Amino acid sequence: MRRILAAGLWALAAIHLAEAIMLRRRRRQLASLPDDVPAATARGAAAKLDVVAVAGSAVDQATAAAARSELDATGAQVVDLIPGDLPAERALRLLRRLEPDRLGADPFYSPGGAHEAVALDPSVSDRMAGGPAEDGPLDRAALVRITLRAQRHAPTASRARVAPRLRATPSEPEDAWRELEQRTAYSRPYGALHPLLVAAESAHLAVMTAGLAVAPVAAAAALVSWSAQPALVFAGRSPLRPPGVAFGSFSRLPRAWAANARLVRAGRRATRARDAERRAAPPPAPPDPRAWFEPRRSTCYWCGSTALARRLDVTDLLQHKPGTFHLDECRACGHVFQNPALTPDGLDYYYADAYDGLGEELAETSFAALGTIYRRRVESLARFTEPRAWLDVGTGHAHFLLAARRRWPEATFDALDMSDSVEEAARRGRVDQAYRGMFPDLAPRLPRRYDVVSMHHYLEHTRDPKRELAAAALVVEPGGHLMIEVPDAEASWSHRLGRYWWQWGQPQHQHFMPCDNLVAALGAEGFEVLSVERGPATMGGDLFNAVGLVLQHLVRSPHLPWLPEPSLAHRVARVALYGAAVPAMLVTKLADEVKDARLGPGDAGNAYRIVARRT
Ligand SMILES: [Zn+2]
Repeated sequence: MRRILAAGLWALAAIHLAEAIMLRRRRRQLASLPDDVPAATARGAAAKLDVVAVAGSAVDQATAAAARSELDATGAQVVDLIPGDLPAERALRLLRRLEPDRLGADPFYSPGGAHEAVALDPSVSDRMAGGPAEDGPLDRAALVRITLRAQRHAPTASRARVAPRLRATPSEPEDAWRELEQRTAYSRPYGALHPLLVAAESAHLAVMTAGLAVAPVAAAAALVSWSAQPALVFAGRSPLRPPGVAFGSFSRLPRAWAANARLVRAGRRATRARDAERRAAPPPAPPDPRAWFEPRRSTCYWCGSTALARRLDVTDLLQHKPGTFHLDECRACGHVFQNPALTPDGLDYYYADAYDGLGEELAETSFAALGTIYRRRVESLARFTEPRAWLDVGTGHAHFLLAARRRWPEATFDALDMSDSVEEAARRGRVDQAYRGMFPDLAPRLPRRYDVVSMHHYLEHTRDPKRELAAAALVVEPGGHLMIEVPDAEASWSHRLGRYWWQWGQPQHQHFMPCDNLVAALGAEGFEVLSVERGPATMGGDLFNAVGLVLQHLVRSPHLPWLPEPSLAHRVARVALYGAAVPAMLVTKLADEVKDARLGPGDAGNAYRIVARRT
């Protein structure tokens, strides 16, 4: 036991040093604002800038002018202002998430900033609906939200710079807790990461402290390497100079314990306040389930055959909203569809908080993480054409178009979606022209035709995919291209994993077209199919996501406000089960990589992609 602990502590010491080296490299990448802005131009320059700062922070005119000058010099639109005297622990946390060189280069990267003050070009503030300001003095959580939004409104045009004249405002424990909560908001619907992060830090401190009694030499190595981190990272000439770094090393452990205890207490107070608020608010009126479903079909949506077989009965495994959903499979043509289908009201009810509200940060984070898949889509099309005018149907927040725009900067990119996400995407500069509504309704009235139309993971969400294909035939010009990507329910894992196959996506996914059916339907609409990719188009993650769905099914998230508060026993069981499942998650993550790497072009992964030309 003692040996294991000692080995762990030595490993910890190595990790502390490696991390210090990494953070020091990032610190060196951090540039400072220019300090040679002439006073005469400062007043006028600062006026052409919107500065949003946390309550109590004062951004002086010289700093604002330097920020404006930085934007002009680099062509950037957003610059996060890092106080030159940012306290060491906050500065280390900042460097852990901020890769300065990546911020201006990767359009999917929005790491936030120091959350002290951020300077925006007025064009960005205008695009951010409702302006950058929230009412009243801003706390740090509000500034996290504003910084993330600003960075997303200016992909590759965001910077982070040290502002030597800016002074850091003190951070109260409540403030620190809310900042942490906001930074991990993407985890909220199903996980709530911030208590786990605080617990992990407590465990880290406890191992080093207790180790001193059991394995003193190894514990001292871990403790010294950790205590020296601020000095290792910030020593030398640097615009970012946290105060008291040299002597602070000696007291890092007691100060960290105290700060951690304050954070835990602040978290408890915040949770109690939220629970009280939740109990005081009346529960939302349950919608009328009779209005949720259409009458059940006795014939196949695709071919009209009456030979329907039950394929799957499943509940809402993610959001745990009430209701059971049935998928039928046609024995004649293989089409799989939700039967009875949800009505538009039913869909509204189940879509709520999936991509917006509670689920907004999660959706944003997961879509931004699909960069590799976006690049594969771009390559699939690049084999056949150089796009000029592109319409992306079912665009969401148009993450894919960020990747397409990088490949074809000269092309125009319009987008269409039912939700207001497409308007937000236009404000973020991802979309040239946004159309909101149903594609079959809008298609005949669109002002132009396109040489490329894409529908990525869109058709399965629609109530009538054949009408969508007819709409595409109207909008793609002759010789133009249509690219479609949809889940592939012919995958063997869709059978093996049953209701835990994540691409079933119930209750959102209405239709699953076998690949041959879609190829034939495209032919009937006047398209010539140029390429069909199956294995290479997979989204991956079958086994890993199945573990997640099983866990969520067994011990659902306590953070879903439409459900009653779970008992303490449920919460304890949840933590225990998730802890026990960590090895399974690691193994399945690896197994997915191995399994998907072996898929050939004709093997069914969990999605397929078709490129077709309008004849
Ligand atoms: Zn059929």
